[in-house]
Amino acid sequence: MLFGHLAISALQHRYLNAEFVPVMVAAVMPDAIDKVLYYGIGQTPSGRLWGHTLLVALLSSAIVLLVFGKRSATSWALGYLSHLIADIGGMVPWLYPFVTYEFPRPESFGTTLWMSLTRPGILIEILLVIWAFIAFRPILQALFEKSPPLTLRALNGYIRDGRQRKHHRVQGKASKS
Ligand SMILES: [Zn+2]
Repeated sequence: MLFGHLAISALQHRYLNAEFVPVMVAAVMPDAIDKVLYYGIGQTPSGRLWGHTLLVALLSSAIVLLVFGKRSATSWALGYLSHLIADIGGMVPWLYPFVTYEFPRPESFGTTLWMSLTRPGILIEILLVIWAFIAFRPILQALFEKSPPLTLRALNGYIRDGRQRKHHRVQGKASKS
């Protein structure tokens, strides 16, 4: 589920030093691609197809590498692959279109949602979300103070500080050599 995927990426940012924006966007990208194709356009036989393949994980990482560089691409690949691994409870068509997959009978959006809310893994997901909330308390505190502009500013500042930290690190390395 979306919140679990976001929580995993948030924790990877916090503890594995993954870049915030690429790791978070990559966490929702597989579902964004496939839910639009399936529920929006109705072009695919399952709510998991192209977005949930190693092919698209690799291609999208290559694009991020070309446009944003190595660190962003590593973070993107990490977020993307973590999404696919977290989805393993259901069918993940890893090697599509090179391998043929038998897709489960399509369910309605409501049934899919209900099934994902009642499966056993939901407990792990809830724990991950709680952990992510604790790890990001400063930003979330602003949210609970009912001040959306402040939250946005805090988030913005957080991302900007991250870039500066990276910049300083790069500068630090440069001055040492
Ligand atoms: Zn998914």
